[in-house]
Amino acid sequence: DFRALVIEQQVDGGRITAHRAEVRRVDDAFLMPGDVTIAVEFSDLNYKDGLAIAGRPGVARTSPLIPGIDVVGTVQQSRDPRWHPGDRVVLNGAGLGESHHGGLAERARVDGSALVRIPDALTSEQAAAIGTAGFTAMLAVLALERNGIDPQEVAESGSSILVTGAAGGVGSVAVALLAKLGYPVTASTGRADEVRDYLTDLGATTIIDRSELDAAGKPLQSQRWAGAVDSVGSQTLATVLAQTRYGGVVAACGLAQGPDLPATVLPFILRAVTLVGINSVEAPAALRETAWRRLATDLDEESLAAMTRFVALADAIPAAEDILAGRLRGRTVVDVRG
Ligand code: NAP
Repeated sequence: DFRALVIEQQVDGGRITAHRAEVRRVDDAFLMPGDVTIAVEFSDLNYKDGLAIAGRPGVARTSPLIPGIDVVGTVQQSRDPRWHPGDRVVLNGAGLGESHHGGLAERARVDGSALVRIPDALTSEQAAAIGTAGFTAMLAVLALERNGIDPQEVAESGSSILVTGAAGGVGSVAVALLAKLGYPVTASTGRADEVRDYLTDLGATTIIDRSELDAAGKPLQSQRWAGAVDSVGSQTLATVLAQTRYGGVVAACGLAQGPDLPATVLPFILRAVTLVGINSVEAPAALRETAWRRLATDLDEESLAAMTRFVALADAIPAAEDILAGRLRGRTVVDVRG
């Protein structure tokens, strides 16, 4: 048998009426079907994991469930010809920690199709520190590149790329990646006093308070951003669109402020702004490979270490409330053996 963080809940008419999260011992029969069994070393805490562990609706789709949308470990057994015992692998999303048992356990059984080989340049700790948040940030940066946003042009024109929710997981990795690639980065945060040095060390060139973005304003405002990586959604995303310059590109990753979008079409039809959606959960295998290859080369090692802290399996339970309350910064890795 092995240790797992397990959540159990009762749902009545779409509402969660009872919820429990605890670390307990389970055996292999508890695992769900899958062709690859993994000895898990690390998982990590994303906003979604916070929701699932704390018993908020929308993430856990079955009960009991091992949460954890990320798995990092070594293949133990495989019926998938692509994977062999000893392979170092990472899996982000793909239903883990939602409808399928996830990474917050010493063992995982998954479908081999969404697994990615951890690039040799990354340790297992680093792969977990990146996790879904970092993978998502990389997908957002790839979207800016694909749409022609060039670091040198952005710098020479005196503009910058805006990262919202900058002290969070997606935001921190986005700041570090963009800075290393040579983009001037403006970081927006609700806790500038506390995280100014942290964000500057990750490579942010300018720091603004999120109150500049999160209140309703005109549908077109002065053109501040060449592009943006947004984890916040809602009024913040509407303001970001209104402030994006002609031809700019905004990657929408998250909904920390809310899922609504109180915007107009004016930025699209008068400024040719592009709004790109980012979905890490169902990213196709080829895109996963590309993103992880780029993470191995384009993410500064020291920046990644500076944004990461490690906790033991049982500590993921109190940390869930912390991430929902916006008290965590950067990335929290869970050592499932600890
Ligand atoms: P996180 O670590 O909790 O970061 C979220 C950050 O958003 C916070 O640190 C905070 O940054 C900011 N924030 C929180 N509440 C806010 C509010 N009411 N108004 C404005 N800003 C607020 O979470 P994460 O794991 O990075 O995820 C960030 C978002 O992306 C979540 O909505 C998550 O669901 C989404 N996400 C989507 C995908 C995808 O595939 N599309 C993948 C991963 C995550 P400051 O303290 O700096 O203000």
